[in-house]
Amino acid sequence: MQYQGVLTKMQTELGSPIQYYLVFEDNFLNVNQLLDKEIEINFVGTQCLNCGKKKKIYRQGFCYECFYSSPAVGDWIMRPELSTAHLGIADRDLEYESKAQLQPHIVYLASASEIKVGVTRKAQIPTRWIDQGASQAIAIVEVPNRYLAGITEVALKDHYTDKTNWRKMLQNSVESFDLIAEKAKIESLIPQEVRDYFYAEKNDVYELQYPVLTYPAKVNSLNLDKTPSFSGKLTGIKGQYLLFENGTVFNVRGSEGYVVTIDV
Ligand SMILES: [Zn+2]
Repeated sequence: MQYQGVLTKMQTELGSPIQYYLVFEDNFLNVNQLLDKEIEINFVGTQCLNCGKKKKIYRQGFCYECFYSSPAVGDWIMRPELSTAHLGIADRDLEYESKAQLQPHIVYLASASEIKVGVTRKAQIPTRWIDQGASQAIAIVEVPNRYLAGITEVALKDHYTDKTNWRKMLQNSVESFDLIAEKAKIESLIPQEVRDYFYAEKNDVYELQYPVLTYPAKVNSLNLDKTPSFSGKLTGIKGQYLLFENGTVFNVRGSEGYVVTIDV
């Protein structure tokens, strides 16, 4: 059976284990069902996720022009503290930014390798954590807009990383942490204007289980520009990565906008 389409990040469903789907225009694929099977990926071309033109992908599935003009990829996405919609100030498109920024956001601690701090829209829980390959996560504050989440994250970056070590995450080299104890320590570190939003009582720790048969000892990243044709036996799915028998790992999210065929 062959599937063809533009890669976008895998859709996920919380479960034991998490379910993963590759969604194309005309059909979709439950990737969990391919575990322990040989699959072949062939690079066909590129297509911008924003304008739909067959252009070279610059970043995040967007062509160069779209990356520097679309409100969907403004600087406030990666750096929430730069959000300005709460002041009525536009970055690229105030209407778009108001919808995205003026909604409940969560600041969280998660462990995918070390403990990291991060920000997400509340509606993206637990998707955001799954995409990062976190083993555990806990919410720290819930705030009404992205700016307040951003300044909280900035304050906590002095104490925690905000990056996931993707190699360690894929090798399941995760230190074990007591996230509830960690959370209790940081109430005094969060900015004054956010203190009222601290989740003092709520201590739900999310535990996430990935469909992985074996973790790789070494990882080699598959790059479709350099290796346009790849086949291998799928041994796991974690974060937004496909793991193969020989240690090859494929970052689906990192390949957004690439048109591929997948033979299963
Ligand atoms: Zn474009």
